[in-house]
Amino acid sequence: MIIDTGMNREECLRPMRSALQKLGIDLNKTDFFITHLHADHSGLVGVLASDTSKIYFNKTEASFVNFQPNEDYWMKHFIFYASHGFPEDEMKRVWEGHPGYRYSSRRQISFSVMEEGDNIEVGNYLFRCIETPGHSPGHMCLYEANKKILICGDHILFDITPNITHWEQLENSLKHYLANLDKVYALDVNLILPGHRNIWNDHRKRIIELQEHHKNRLDEALSAVQDGGKTAWEVAPYIAWDIVCNSWAEFPSLQKFFAVGETIAHLDYLEADGKVRKEMKNHKLLYSLA
Ligand SMILES: [Zn+2]
Repeated sequence: MIIDTGMNREECLRPMRSALQKLGIDLNKTDFFITHLHADHSGLVGVLASDTSKIYFNKTEASFVNFQPNEDYWMKHFIFYASHGFPEDEMKRVWEGHPGYRYSSRRQISFSVMEEGDNIEVGNYLFRCIETPGHSPGHMCLYEANKKILICGDHILFDITPNITHWEQLENSLKHYLANLDKVYALDVNLILPGHRNIWNDHRKRIIELQEHHKNRLDEALSAVQDGGKTAWEVAPYIAWDIVCNSWAEFPSLQKFFAVGETIAHLDYLEADGKVRKEMKNHKLLYSLA
């Protein structure tokens, strides 16, 4: 079973194929588990899966996406960002560079739909599905209780932080995310395998750091709206982003887009918490202290 696949582009397919060949993997005898819908995880599954492959995917995301978001979906998405102050010229550049738009799977896929507590048996491994919405609406981890292994997709990352953005399909995504960090904290884990970059063993230490990170961002967002009436676009530069740029203006457009999405998620959280309020003025959503 292959867990997550990389983007649907030649630069990802080539090393994937050569690695599979080195490992002697027969794709006709291979199933797939996709932790969540993002193109860097799901993109290549349509190319790699054979007619006999099972493709396990979470129920929530299977219900609204078949890896083929159309033009209307993206248009709606961008209109939403415009209401949060995202400028049109920047948006055009985002559209051109967005990995979800460019590198998603291009074919309809029939999924084996998984829910919390479902098991997948592979050789000597018995994986339990753990629903962890937050980074995406239906994000799912796999836990092997006997071997104490957690395969966590983008729920926990170690030298970068998972992007927590606004989702139409998941109200208050940050609240879900933080609750699902607690959920995973409770698991007994010796080896944690994240979707990107470094591997570490201590998931609990990292969870505490991630919780602290979002608490700081919430404080920054709250203090940014103290003098009132700001869009998420205007709040975003007040937040400390870990990026090699001298100023907000220098951020690449796609990074501004991800940053504004994160800012909206934090403002959603503060709004649900009764700390900020939101009002529509001249087609823009403005946040101020409640
Ligand atoms: Zn992701």
